Amino acid sequence: MTESESAGYDYDYDVVISGAGLAGSAAAILLARRGVRVALLERRSDPEAYKALCTHSLQASAYPVLDELGLVPALEKAGAVRSEARWYTRWGWIEPRAAPGGPELPYAYNVRRSTLDPLIRSRAAQTPGVDLLLGHPVIGLVREAGRTTGVRVSTAQGEREIRARLVVGADGKDSAVAKFAGVPARLYENARFGYLAQFRNLPLSGGVGQTWFLEPDMAYAFPNDGGVTVLAVLPDKKRLPAFREDLEGSFLDFVRALPEAPPIDSAERVSKITGTVNYPLHSRRPTAPGVAFIGDAALTGDPLWGVGCGWALQSARWLAEAVGSSATGQGDLDRSLAVYARRHRRELSGHQYLGADFAKARPFNPVERLMFSAAARDESVARHMHLFASRLIGPLRFLNPVALARASAVNLRHRGAALSKGQRNQAV
Ligand SMILES: Cc1cc2nc3c(=O)[nH]c(=O)nc-3n(C[C@H](O)[C@H](O)[C@H](O)COP(=O)(O)OP(=O)(O)OC[C@H]3O[C@@H](n4cnc5c(N)ncnc54)[C@H](O)[C@@H]3O)c2cc1C
Repeated sequence: MTESESAGYDYDYDVVISGAGLAGSAAAILLARRGVRVALLERRSDPEAYKALCTHSLQASAYPVLDELGLVPALEKAGAVRSEARWYTRWGWIEPRAAPGGPELPYAYNVRRSTLDPLIRSRAAQTPGVDLLLGHPVIGLVREAGRTTGVRVSTAQGEREIRARLVVGADGKDSAVAKFAGVPARLYENARFGYLAQFRNLPLSGGVGQTWFLEPDMAYAFPNDGGVTVLAVLPDKKRLPAFREDLEGSFLDFVRALPEAPPIDSAERVSKITGTVNYPLHSRRPTAPGVAFIGDAALTGDPLWGVGCGWALQSARWLAEAVGSSATGQGDLDRSLAVYARRHRRELSGHQYLGADFAKARPFNPVERLMFSAAARDESVARHMHLFASRLIGPLRFLNPVALARASAVNLRHRGAALSKGQRNQAV
């Protein structure tokens, strides 16, 4: 059955969304503003529920969506911290800064999920056209002639069907909608494990986020709202058996050994140390007949790059832009879904390809050595790297021939300067 054949059906809503996390809530707001009637279903009953396993540093690519959603003033008021960061490498620190007299560097926010998730969910609930149904897990799909035409949900009163022109899976990496629609994910092994915890009184050098590239181990620390700093360590899985023998001791020792280590012994830990020892990257076809996936349900990146929240918000926007009118019955929904799927692939598949390769916990490859070393030595290369890390440019622009040539020139100049310094020292 095509979408036009299903046009005569009696729908309860235009769109039903499974999952009121970041992607689902953002999509509900953006669709409803376009006149779409939305049921936003969330399996958890608590309106304040949030995703605990996250270090919630949102990249600058998320800013335009946060702005469109009208969340920026509330985030600023809640004390969200601009997501500026510096990165440790074996060549020194990469410290992206605005060019003298130039515009400030693009940013988004570090903000705890306990702040962000309830905020965006409540905004969705207040949006005319959105019915937020908490405590409504999706437990199956309504399918007719190979097309999804609704969901089955469990409620306190028993099971019910909700029929809609489009079902959106915004229900995370283990998406129930994907499982019921039979859309498998392609998995890429992640050879690192990760543990994280939140601290108070943990000042960071320069007051900004820090990421340590230790080849292959990683660590990062971000200041957040409420004076809370989140610290994460992501070592090679080879270290897992020893690490687990004394989780707390290993976590603290790992942090103490970091270059310019944050003063963890004088800080107050305000959360448990939580983590994940198996977190493969996922990619899924972003659409199926009558179905679209957004956020982690469509693509789950490597947590170490801090990109998933931004991509959840951005993919919600791409979907709303593509299906905004056809979801109401005006226009060809299948064609709109194809537009969304193409955009999703165009924007994210290159990033995911590089991310999957880096998740092998290998040392830097020659191109990474070139770019990271030059960025540690040169401010304009550092700014270029900031645009890539912020996901404002893709891999092709990041590694364009001009950028590679500039990085090579920086390194040649550096080598020349080091050689002549060595000669001067010998002559003395
Ligand atoms: C260790 C770690 C650190 C991370 N750090 C960062 C970071 O610093 N920055 C960043 O940008 N990203 C980070 N991420 C990624 C980020 O957490 C995710 O990409 C992001 O939460 C995806 O949002 P989402 O809305 O797609 O899914 P989720 O946030 O997972 O929301 C899914 C929602 O669907 C609901 N749901 C699930 N099943 C059903 C069902 N059957 N019926 C109804 N509802 C359902 C869930 O309850 C939930 O509310 C990190 C991830 C990990 C694991």
